[in-house]
Amino acid sequence: MSQMKIKNLPLDQNINGWAALRGDTTRHPALHGKVTADWLVIGAGFAGLAFARRIAELRPHEHVVVLEALDVADNASARNSGFVIDLPHTVGSTSAELEHANTYRRLLQYGLHHLKDTVDRHEIECDWLNSGKYHCAVSEQFDGEIAHYQKELTTLGESFEYLDNAALKQRLGTSFYRSAVYTPNCILVNPAALISGLVATLPENVTVYANSPALQIETQGTIRAETPHGEVRARKLMLAINGAARGLPLFKGNVFAMSTFATLTEPLTPEQRRVIGDISAWGSTPVNALAGATLRYTSDHRFLIREHVNFAPGLVTSAVETGRHARRHQKLFARIYPQLQDVNMAYTWSGLISITRNGAPVWGNLSENVYSSAGCNGSGSSKQSAFGRLLAEHALGEDNPLLADMEAVGRANYLPPRPFLDVGVKSFMARERWRSRSEM
Ligand SMILES: Cc1cc2nc3c(=O)[nH]c(=O)nc-3n(C[C@H](O)[C@H](O)[C@H](O)COP(=O)(O)OP(=O)(O)OC[C@H]3O[C@@H](n4cnc5c(N)ncnc54)[C@H](O)[C@@H]3O)c2cc1C
Repeated sequence: MSQMKIKNLPLDQNINGWAALRGDTTRHPALHGKVTADWLVIGAGFAGLAFARRIAELRPHEHVVVLEALDVADNASARNSGFVIDLPHTVGSTSAELEHANTYRRLLQYGLHHLKDTVDRHEIECDWLNSGKYHCAVSEQFDGEIAHYQKELTTLGESFEYLDNAALKQRLGTSFYRSAVYTPNCILVNPAALISGLVATLPENVTVYANSPALQIETQGTIRAETPHGEVRARKLMLAINGAARGLPLFKGNVFAMSTFATLTEPLTPEQRRVIGDISAWGSTPVNALAGATLRYTSDHRFLIREHVNFAPGLVTSAVETGRHARRHQKLFARIYPQLQDVNMAYTWSGLISITRNGAPVWGNLSENVYSSAGCNGSGSSKQSAFGRLLAEHALGEDNPLLADMEAVGRANYLPPRPFLDVGVKSFMARERWRSRSEM
C-alpha cells in the first residue's frame, strides 16, 4: 500500500514533569507550506534523532527534515524515567541466550557511548549522572532471580555488587527492598533536557518541525507527507514513530503500544532529608519491569516513581486515567517511605512504549526507500539511539561491524489482529501482575 492515512496520534492529557522542571517554554516552529528534502524522518524521539544526526554527518550536502507530532520536549523519549542503560535487564542461561545478551549489551553500550559523546561535545545540560543502577526485589519470591542475575553478570564479565535489606536501607533510605544487584555504569538524566539538547545541536542540514504530525504519507515514487499546514517531499523516508507504528500497513501489525506512568515529587525539605539520611542521587529498576516500580532519587532531592503499564491501542491517555495513577503512585510511595508521609506529588504523566511479541524490533527497510526502527520494547534511550544511528549507516551502505549485531537481534514477528491481540495482551498483563504481586 503506497498511500497511508494516519489514524491515531499520541496524546497524553498531562504535563511532562521533566519539561516543567526546566521551565523551558521554547516552542519549535511547525511546518507551514511546502518543503523538499533528501530525507524525511517522522518522529523526533531517540530513534529519529539518532538517524537524522548520522545521515546529516555522513551526507553534509543533503537536507534532512524531521517532522514531530508533538513539541520536542514532550514526546515519549522526553517523558521517560531518564535511565540510559548499559546492560540488558535479563540475560538467560543457555549459550544462545548469553550470546543474545552479549549482542544487546554491545548495542546498548554503543548507543550510550554516542549519546555521551554528543552530550560532552555540545555541553548539553541534562543532569547526566553516572550513578549506576539498583536492580531490586521486594520479596523472597524473587531471591532466585536476583541470584540468577548475579550469575549472568559474572558470565558476562560485568562488575556488580549484591546488597541486602540493611545495606539498601543505608543507600536508598528505605527498608522496602529485600535485596538488589547494583551495576555501576547506568546513566541518569533529565530526559526532556536531553531530547531538547539533541534537537538543538543537530547539524545545520537538519530541520526539525514540531507540532507537525504527518497525517498522510505517500511512499510510491517521491515520498510525500502531509501535515496540517504543510507538505514535505523527499527521496527517502525513515519512520521513527515507535508506539504509533501499528496503524500503518507497512508495519504489518507487528508492534503495539502500551502506556506507562511516572510521578515526580516536590523536592524534599531539609527536615524530610534528615529523616532518610544523607543519600545521594540513585536509580532502581524492578525485577519485573511490567509489574514492579522504577524509582529515582534526583540530585535536587525529588523522588520519581514509574509504575503500571496499560494496553494503549488508541495512543491516548486521558486526564482521568492520569489522576488515577497519581493516586496509585502516592499510595505506593507511602508504602516505600512510610516515614515521609508529608511529601507532595508534583507531576504525574504518561508516555508510550511499543512492544513486539518476541522483543525484536521492526528495523531496516520496509520498502525500497522506506526505513524504520520501531518496537523499542522499553530501554529506548540507549537502544533506539544505537538502532537509529546504525539504520542510517545501513541506509548509506556504510560498513559497521555492529550491523551484524542488528541482524542477530532478529525482527519482530507476527501478532494477531484485534480484538484477539487485546485479549492476549490483557491476559498476559494480568498473569504478570499476579505472578509479581509481591513486588507491588
Ligand atoms: C514513563 C516512561 C518511562 C520510561 N523510562 C525509560 C527509561 O528510564 N530508560 C529508557 O531507556 N527507556 C524508558 N522508556 C522507554 C523509552 O522512552 C522509549 O523506549 C523511547 O522513547 C523510544 O524511542 P523512539 O524514538 O523509538 O520512540 P518515541 O520516543 O516514542 O518517538 C516516536 C515519535 O514519533 C512521533 N510521532 C508518532 N506519530 C507521528 C506522526 N504521524 N507524525 C509525526 N510524528 C509522529 C511521536 O510523537 C514521538 O515523538 C520509558 C517510557 C515511558 C513512557
